[in-house]
Amino acid sequence: MKKVIVLGAGYAGLKTVVELQKKLRGQVEITLVDENPYHYEATDLHEVASGNLPASKITFPITDVLNPEMTTLVLDHVEKVDQDKKIVELRDHKPLSYDYCVFALGFVSETFGIKGAEENSLPMTNVKESEAIHNHIITQMKDYQETKNPNDLKLIICGAGFTGIELAGALADARPRYAKLAGVTPDQIKIHIIDASKRLLPMFNEKLADYGINLLKKLEIEITTEARIQEIQPDTVLYQGAGDSEGDPLHKVEANTIIWTTGVSGSPVVAESGLQARRGRVMDTEHLTAPDHDDMYMVGDVAAVMPPNGKRPYPTTAQIALSMANYVAKDIAARVKGIARPAAYVYKSLGTVASVGNTRAFGEASGHSFKGYPASVLKKMIMNKSLMELGGFKELFAKGRFDLYH
Ligand code: NAD
Repeated sequence: MKKVIVLGAGYAGLKTVVELQKKLRGQVEITLVDENPYHYEATDLHEVASGNLPASKITFPITDVLNPEMTTLVLDHVEKVDQDKKIVELRDHKPLSYDYCVFALGFVSETFGIKGAEENSLPMTNVKESEAIHNHIITQMKDYQETKNPNDLKLIICGAGFTGIELAGALADARPRYAKLAGVTPDQIKIHIIDASKRLLPMFNEKLADYGINLLKKLEIEITTEARIQEIQPDTVLYQGAGDSEGDPLHKVEANTIIWTTGVSGSPVVAESGLQARRGRVMDTEHLTAPDHDDMYMVGDVAAVMPPNGKRPYPTTAQIALSMANYVAKDIAARVKGIARPAAYVYKSLGTVASVGNTRAFGEASGHSFKGYPASVLKKMIMNKSLMELGGFKELFAKGRFDLYH
């Protein structure tokens, strides 16, 4: 029987397993490898970091969706994949051999080598990091009761991409809780986003991006643009401002919570495995396999897929990860059954929606712009759809977002 190994139980990996279990019942042996026994909804990490949701609300046990007759779960860290020998090397288990490997190990925080970023700021790329951010904020708020240091009440977000903006909205929602812990009024909790770009949210048209930025401003979130962060010292961000020249003194902003969301790169296991990649993303073939290794599929955040006539790969999202997984399961099923493989992978985006807290959002779907409350409902529906696709009704009813009436 053919052996399929799936690395990573995020959107791309888990969805591949779910689809293979349906399409190839009794025809393949699947081994799923992940470090954790749970899947997490990466699109909701900011809710855990802010403390608006507990981690249990954005996670579910991987075994909930596995068919034990077809799939074995191995809890371990993947060291590397040897594509020529077709084996996966693990930290604590013996190497595993495969006929087909689906590499879906997700993303890590990207510091771009900026001095002090790793040591002095908090990344938000998984559940543990998100919980660490929340615990850190709680500690600062409680400390304020003793210290009366205004920096305890300040939260800086480095990088105003999709992640930074959604996090800022979630932190703004959490202000009253933080204020209560610190014994201050909510307006004393200061949230500040710092970004190098002149124009934020480039994935949206200018009108929609301006709408999003105004939403943040209405929530009293301070936004500094054209600020290229050069260094993070303990409790201090140093940046070069617009118009500054090389050698000019750097601007300094202080806060006792500094969160790092300046971008991500694909899993370091990509480089460990000797794959050619840019920021951990491998340029896929039309069948979503690695160049020169047709039995190794690269999906989700470790994959780069170009839009037709496009200059940059599609941005990494849960939506594209799920769509890639659907395709890969179809392709593997065709190969196992010995029938014609599907035509080249094509991605059709259903739209992009950014949330700014629980009840506000903005975005584009099916060629239309959505704003405010309707957009926030749409966002929750998109999240519920991906939860349903992965975990079925069980997870949808247990973890879905049905708080639609405010
Ligand atoms: P990003 O790359 O989209 O944004 C990073 C931001 O950090 C940019 O605005 C950039 O200008 C800024 N930055 C980088 N270096 C800087 C520096 N030295 N100083 C100041 N600013 C700096 O990263 P992200 O927001 O983490 O998103 C990663 C990927 O995940 C993207 O493809 C994004 O679209 C996707 N994502 C999607 C969703 C969703 O669909 N709901 C949510 C979150 C993230």
